[in-house]
Amino acid sequence: MSRQSIGLSNAVHAYLREATLREPALLRQLREETAQLPQANMQIAPEQGQFMGLLVELVGARRVLEVGVFTGYSSLSVALALPDDGRLVACDVSEEWTRTARRYWEQAGVAHKIDLRLAPGLVTLDALLADGQAGTYDFAFLDADKESYVEYKDRCMKLVRSGGLLAFDNALWHGDVADPQKTDASTEAIRRVTRQLRDDPRVSLSLVPIGDGLLLARKR
Ligand code: CA
Repeated sequence: MSRQSIGLSNAVHAYLREATLREPALLRQLREETAQLPQANMQIAPEQGQFMGLLVELVGARRVLEVGVFTGYSSLSVALALPDDGRLVACDVSEEWTRTARRYWEQAGVAHKIDLRLAPGLVTLDALLADGQAGTYDFAFLDADKESYVEYKDRCMKLVRSGGLLAFDNALWHGDVADPQKTDASTEAIRRVTRQLRDDPRVSLSLVPIGDGLLLARKR
């Protein structure tokens, strides 16, 4: 369940949203439209979208990577927080889901900030590295297939500048990471990237229990 923060009672969670959520009407509309899909739990929580907008401001981000767009809630949250000349390279493999995302980017007036790459995330990240873009990104949000998280991390550690931020979604994986019985490839990959970053002196680290868990690593 990623549309709701875990570990909070329903009443506390409702308070959190009521007291702080500033979700623009278009984002709410996108969230409600996406909620109709069978894959709706792939959408981030609105308080997480707002948090990511805050992170973009804190980092002073102008150039952002996103791997895993889905219907575009996170990319729209980030793009709205970017300056007008900011740029978001958005990677996904689904023409169908990103069609919804593009419709909302257009309506929100942020389409000019977003460069959608329809290809496997690793292919696009490798192309950016081959193009000499190492060290030129301020923020990377990783939320595609969990099996590739370690590979995404290795590429993004190169693409993000010193002082920039990597953020991995679903770091708590609806609790499965804490269940020793769960040894599927996705769960193991999330555990592996978390341990690697914990033991990596090149980053400062925090796993924030918002949504389904957001693992933040700041490249020193
Ligand atoms: Ca996710």
